[in-house]
Amino acid sequence: MTRREEIIKLLSEQSFSLQQLANHFKTDVADLTEDIAHVKLSIHPLKLLSDPAFCKKCGYVFQERNKIKTPSKCPRCKSEWIEAQKFKIG
Ligand SMILES: [Zn+2]
Repeated sequence: MTRREEIIKLLSEQSFSLQQLANHFKTDVADLTEDIAHVKLSIHPLKLLSDPAFCKKCGYVFQERNKIKTPSKCPRCKSEWIEAQKFKIG
C-alpha cells in the first residue's frame, strides 16, 4: 500500500490533523501536504472534509477551507495556541 492509499484508509476511518498523520508516518507536516493535496483530487466522488482550525484562546474559527496548512497565528488575538484543522474522507 502506498502512503497515499494508507492516508485514504486512515481518513476514511477517523479524522486526523496533519500533525497526527505526520506522527503516524514518522515524517514532517511539510512532507504530507503534497500527499493530502493529491488525495483530495484522487478520491472523487468522495470528498476530503475538514473541521476548521480554531484558536483555543479566543475561539476564532479559520474558515479558509482550501488551505491545507494549519495557520500559525490567530488574526484576532495573535495567540499561537491553534487547534489544528482535522481531515476526514466522507
Ligand atoms: Zn484568538
